[in-house]
Amino acid sequence: MDREITAAVSSFLLDEPCLSVRKNVPLSRLTSMGVGGDAACVLSPRDGGCLIRLLDRLSPSDVPFRVIGNGTNLIAPDAGYPGVLVLTAGIDRISVTGNVLVAGAGVPLGRAIRRAMEAGLSGLEELIGIPGTVGGALYMNAGAYGRTVSERLRYATVYHPASGEVTVRTPGSLVFGYRTGSIREEGMIVLSAAFDLLPSDPAAIAARMNEILEVRNATQPTGLKSAGSFFRRPAPDIPAGKLIAEAGCAGLTEGGAAVSTKHAGFIVNTGNATERDVRRLAERVRDKVKQKTGFILEPEAEYLSDLSDGSGKRT
Ligand SMILES: Cc1cc2nc3c(=O)[nH]c(=O)nc-3n(C[C@H](O)[C@H](O)[C@H](O)COP(=O)(O)OP(=O)(O)OC[C@H]3O[C@@H](n4cnc5c(N)ncnc54)[C@H](O)[C@@H]3O)c2cc1C
Repeated sequence: MDREITAAVSSFLLDEPCLSVRKNVPLSRLTSMGVGGDAACVLSPRDGGCLIRLLDRLSPSDVPFRVIGNGTNLIAPDAGYPGVLVLTAGIDRISVTGNVLVAGAGVPLGRAIRRAMEAGLSGLEELIGIPGTVGGALYMNAGAYGRTVSERLRYATVYHPASGEVTVRTPGSLVFGYRTGSIREEGMIVLSAAFDLLPSDPAAIAARMNEILEVRNATQPTGLKSAGSFFRRPAPDIPAGKLIAEAGCAGLTEGGAAVSTKHAGFIVNTGNATERDVRRLAERVRDKVKQKTGFILEPEAEYLSDLSDGSGKRT
């Protein structure tokens, strides 16, 4: 690990026993695509207060860092990540009061949806099967089957790396779009989120969840390593997967990466893929789709090496 990172992390550790520290962690284990070299340092705060104190230290420092959830929308670099990855898995509190469900940033979306179902609360079940966390879902404005995670948002508690402030943002002060929104655009870090849900019969909610999961299993390569739908829809009613299939790309391979034959919108790791394989395959798909259909596909999955540092700028 780089000397500067070691110094920064060591100074932090002196007074933060709530932090688990791992060095040289294979990124393939932290991301669902399963590619990439090592992360120099992985810090896992065990609660929200610890996460805020960690961000207070990292944001003004020169140490590159990024907050990540379940790594289900990330393609990790073969060269590794030279800074600190902050994992939100420990920010895992969840509560229900009346019709409102509050979840920490690291709560897996599926766990939040199941908790809502047990409490007889509907509104998120179409999102079952999205393997990300609450924080990652709000960053991406994840969505499926006609619903998005932001639709039921009551408020999000966020950290602003540029100022070190923690604020509560309601939907009126946030903009969400197709797989994006203010959280992503303004570089906020989600600490927790509250959702306004609707009373409903738990059995009916569970039935809808099962229906969605059955469709997912029937139509998507759910058992294989991937980052979900690799490309964004180029237009609202035009799924990228349909264009990719039309361009004859299903089954196309590059090293260990392949375009799924079950759902051409997915690039899967067949066992030993590298980031380079994934990038090359995505480029080939892009070229073929452009040639055949005229549409230019942009990735929905994020290349970790192309993302900015999580710090923003302090004024
Ligand atoms: C099999 C499969 C199916 C999928 N199906 C869908 C689908 O139907 N719909 C859909 O929208 N997506 C889908 N995805 C993609 C992915 O699950 C979502 O984008 C999810 O929201 C990513 O959450 P994550 O916690 O894994 O985020 P990560 O992959 O860990 O991170 C993604 C981005 O979010 C940022 N981030 C993470 N946590 C925070 C936080 N607390 N605050 C601020 N930024 C944060 C990261 O820095 C990174 O830029 C699928 C993926 C897979 C593998």
